[in-house]
Amino acid sequence: METIHIQSSQGTYPVMLGDGALDSLNEVIQSLNPACTSFLLIADETVYSLHKAYVDSYLDQLDADIHLVPSGEQAKSFHCYEKAMGAALEAGLDRHSVILALGGGATGDLAGFVAATYMRGIRFIQIPTTVLAHDSAVGGKTAINHPLGKNMTGSFHQPSAVIYDSRFLDTLPLNEFRSGFAEVIKHALIADGTFLQELMRSLRSLEKMDPAFLLYCLKRGIEIKRDIVELDEKELGVRAFLNFGHTYGHAVEAWSGYGNKTHGECVMIGMVFALYVSRHKRNLSFDIDSFRLWIKQLGYDDVFKSAPFNELLTIMKKDKKTIGKEVRFVLLSEVGNPELVPVSGEELEETFLLLG
Ligand code: NAD
Ligand code: ZN
Repeated sequence: METIHIQSSQGTYPVMLGDGALDSLNEVIQSLNPACTSFLLIADETVYSLHKAYVDSYLDQLDADIHLVPSGEQAKSFHCYEKAMGAALEAGLDRHSVILALGGGATGDLAGFVAATYMRGIRFIQIPTTVLAHDSAVGGKTAINHPLGKNMTGSFHQPSAVIYDSRFLDTLPLNEFRSGFAEVIKHALIADGTFLQELMRSLRSLEKMDPAFLLYCLKRGIEIKRDIVELDEKELGVRAFLNFGHTYGHAVEAWSGYGNKTHGECVMIGMVFALYVSRHKRNLSFDIDSFRLWIKQLGYDDVFKSAPFNELLTIMKKDKKTIGKEVRFVLLSEVGNPELVPVSGEELEETFLLLG
């Protein structure tokens, strides 16, 4: 098992990564100071039902209360937040209690926000179960959705630990696996050209990926995210680079209707778009054609032509990086070298028309 340490203003926390990492739960809990008084597991109902025996074998020792939440994004509603808060109150959690979050990014975001706000903040441990969660479980962003905007009610609240047991990934559907892996590729593009080359050389399919190579990829993804969030915990600067592919990607995701296309599929389309803008505005010399062929082999779409450009632009103007009416993109001058650059509507439209 690998341990990666992450520093934050609230202290350093470990990410324990490996097959069977859940075995370290007890040890992690013992190491927390002050000692934990009680536990509430907030779990994605699908994940819990698939892995009940395995999870219970660890929970029984803790005498934890269990609160199940709907699968995926539905968990991030005000309604589910209120119910989870109710469960925490009914379980009698106090200031020294710990919330355990079992599931993908959605459950982690909800449970983290419950932990951030219950009695003005108690500790929580992330037990992520998706590939995407190598990204979402690290960095301390927690949030729920408002009907008018995704992640619009949230807080920075760092976990006390992340226990990332790859055994859970065995049941993850391929489309969710692919969604999460897009963020691994994003991490390589923004920070590590050698890692990207390794991926492009070794990976021909996301089905039945070699477990050791998968763990290596998750570890590199976590390390890259760590390096960025340690520099900029509250997203005042370089943390925005993690948004590579997300300006256009979010527009595609929102236009398609959240939940109809996975987040990572949209981000991949957004990254291809941002690579072309990078070539135009920053002379990026990276071979985009080979990259497109490779991701198509992995089962990703590389372009999205269903929406009229103007509608995508209207959505992009609402992106949180936009200042005034100026859309700002994370671009690459070379792989591993991101920058935040203003891009005009005309330039974006040119790229849109260029993509065949
Ligand atoms: P998810 O939590 O939405 O889960 C996707 C689906 O996979 C659900 O149906 C879930 O039940 C299922 N699932 C999860 N683990 C499984 C497993 N092991 N076996 C079988 N099924 C499983 O997916 P996600 O992609 O991990 O998370 C997306 C969320 O993460 C979004 O809400 C996004 O806003 C958030 N996010 C947060 C951050 C952050 O920094 N906090 C970063 C990126 C994304
Ligand atoms: Zn993302």
